[in-house]
Amino acid sequence: MARLILKPGKERSLLRRHPWVFAGSVAELDGRARAGDTVEVLNADGRVLARAAWSPESQIRARVWSFDVEASIDHAFFKRKVAAAVARRSAHPLLAGQAGLRLIHGESDGLPGVIADRYGDVVVMQLTSAGADKWRAAIVGALVQATGCTAVYERSDSEVRGLEGLPPTAGCVHGELPAGPLTIVENGVTMEVDVVGGHKTGFYLDQRDNRLLTGRLAAGRQVLNCFCYTGGFSLQALAGGAAGVLSIDSSGPALAGAQRNLAHNPQLDASRAEWREDDVFQALRALRAEGRRFDLIVLDPPKFAPSAAHAERAARAYKDINMLGFRLLNPGGILMSYSCSGGVGLELFQKIVAGAAIDAGVDARIIHRLAAAADHPVGLAVPEGEYLKGLACQVG
Ligand code: SAH
Repeated sequence: MARLILKPGKERSLLRRHPWVFAGSVAELDGRARAGDTVEVLNADGRVLARAAWSPESQIRARVWSFDVEASIDHAFFKRKVAAAVARRSAHPLLAGQAGLRLIHGESDGLPGVIADRYGDVVVMQLTSAGADKWRAAIVGALVQATGCTAVYERSDSEVRGLEGLPPTAGCVHGELPAGPLTIVENGVTMEVDVVGGHKTGFYLDQRDNRLLTGRLAAGRQVLNCFCYTGGFSLQALAGGAAGVLSIDSSGPALAGAQRNLAHNPQLDASRAEWREDDVFQALRALRAEGRRFDLIVLDPPKFAPSAAHAERAARAYKDINMLGFRLLNPGGILMSYSCSGGVGLELFQKIVAGAAIDAGVDARIIHRLAAAADHPVGLAVPEGEYLKGLACQVG
């Protein structure tokens, strides 16, 4: 096994159990390794710290599989790790009965670069690191064994694979997808999941709890759902008894998916739903000009800042939509505002939203801090920004 030797002092983050080795920390690779091969990681004094996957093309030069320096990284290792991740979800009371569930959440489940989401009998897998890519067969086998699923569909078409020197790839890697549309029931609402053409693995499972909360706050209210994708928040709001729900997204296919979802839920009053294909930045200004007002507004935009380098521009975009949102609220109204930008931590996000409230001239307070659902755990050593964060603010 090749040995990756760190520069002096560069073992600190590993000792704190952060599983990444950046290019700037590497003194040398002693021996030969191809992308994805397992290497031993040593500090400058020769002490072995971990076993990791080598990724020569990535700025993250190695990702730790195990801090147990004797661990064999083999089929049995992946079988154990995958089974443990699946068991954690099965044992969690808040996740009981969910047909749509994240089974593996990368680093936080000890499997860097591995995402697996379950939609009924189908598992959708995404591999984004050289190490994960190398162990594809072991991971698929372990998923089938741990879940008894009928199909595993791979959606490794994320741009981040390019950073690891990996080509995009997608398709069935086990079994066959069901013939018709794949649906899940999420807290009483049926949602179609387009595992082949949808965003990410087909659906934003991390927002499940927040969609439910929106439903619980929606009774009798006029709701505005910005960046609605296939209508997850909109349908929960209708289920919760919203008086009306206006949903906006710039993607025609996403809105078409929302229409199909509405059709899957005949129990909901579709006449209370209004849909607009538009850019949210413009639509919020237009709504103000039209004199529209709302009691509950959801802002769930895409990642504006993938890394800290984009934080400043992202901050302006967050401030803009939050300020416009605050201005559209009736007295007592609630703004539910999210960020999934790695480059924007919760503290910065709160500052931005606070600045937006001041600029909008409203008096606002946080009534809920909003996080991703329990099937999206965050490792304690993972940097602050790398997870979904949200604030529900009520204006005076
Ligand atoms: N809230 C959704 C997920 C939102 S994903 C859910 O719970 O399922 C972000 C969405 O924002 C995508 O559907 C994308 O099409 C849309 N989007 C991105 N930029 C936009 C813009 N400037 N205006 C309107 N929609 C936008």
